[in-house]
Amino acid sequence: MTDLVAPATPPALTKRLAALAPTDHTGRVQRLRAQLAEHECDALLVTHLTNIRWLTGFTGSAAMVAVTDDDLLFVTDGRYTEQAVDQLGRAGLAHGSSAARIEITGKAQQQLVAAAVADRRRLGLEADHVTWAARLRYGDEWFPGHELVATRGVLEDLRLVKDHAELTRMEAAAAVADAALAAVRHRLLDGPTEVEFGLELDTTMRRFGASGPSFETIVGSGPNGARPHARPSRRRITEGDLVVLDFGAVVDGYCSDMTRTVMVGEPDPTQARMLAVVTEAQAAGVAAIAAGVAACDVDTACREVIEAAGWGDAFTHATGHGVGLDIHEAPRVSASSTTTLAVDQVVTVEPGVYLPEHGGVRVEDSLVVTATGSRSLTLTPKRPAP
Ligand code: ZN
Ligand code: ZN
Repeated sequence: MTDLVAPATPPALTKRLAALAPTDHTGRVQRLRAQLAEHECDALLVTHLTNIRWLTGFTGSAAMVAVTDDDLLFVTDGRYTEQAVDQLGRAGLAHGSSAARIEITGKAQQQLVAAAVADRRRLGLEADHVTWAARLRYGDEWFPGHELVATRGVLEDLRLVKDHAELTRMEAAAAVADAALAAVRHRLLDGPTEVEFGLELDTTMRRFGASGPSFETIVGSGPNGARPHARPSRRRITEGDLVVLDFGAVVDGYCSDMTRTVMVGEPDPTQARMLAVVTEAQAAGVAAIAAGVAACDVDTACREVIEAAGWGDAFTHATGHGVGLDIHEAPRVSASSTTTLAVDQVVTVEPGVYLPEHGGVRVEDSLVVTATGSRSLTLTPKRPAP
């Protein structure tokens, strides 16, 4: 494999990355406040960092937010003094009715948070993110006089439908991934190892503006492709391989997620049929998407095509998932999903067929749900040549 000559960032991408829409954090705080009664609490202690980022714009690694109907206390420690003031300021949380009180302290966090919620009886905790030890500490030491409420999905439900600012970030993240694959895919013909090719993809996404990959890039060639979540190995990619490439970029916290399967050389008859069947299944899943549709019906649409081809048992995972600040978030797109899709949710459709003797095929797009269908964020052709 020859040395990488760094590809230049496509100008359209640079322009897109410079034009991300501003985020309305004030509106998010108001929407959260409107949910407190719904979840039977008078105050909510937000401790999950991804939720704190969504709510306040803060990207540091330690913080807590106590929210009541008329107060928002943001607490972090001395490492983030400047960053907290800067990011919450830019989020518009410095003034007005949603203004945050920012406290920087290592030792007095307990007293400050307790004081902020002192006259609120029912205090919600994020049950999916609070450890058992923390729950005991909150009950015994921090809030002994409160009724602690185990809330579930308060912020996650608000995060389900993406606003304009989020969609511009996710479009940019998807565009970075598309452009990176277009720039490096021909190098599959040079016989790289899976690790080498994965690194080129990751490096190119970084060069093109990603802060990083949205998850560990999957490069599954030959028999390794038959493991849906194969980690890149030292295996050399050779003629006759199907290569499953599942990867994404992060732009301003938001993830993209796409899979393409590239055939190196000519497919054997089974590989050709796998590519045709999975591509058809994926298209059927995409065609099933629209606001008001049950997410489980999208799964069914994909699965029926693969079952009709006789490979039902070789499609071993769910059809898709929501994407956003997390690479996997609500809603699930699976047979057991109870979600009904809504406008501006972002979901993946990613059926696959895995046959150890022939390899794996998966095709995945990330799609924005619309009133009558969907709009794909992933724009790479379904069957790219190397
Ligand atoms: Zn993926
Ligand atoms: Zn995915």
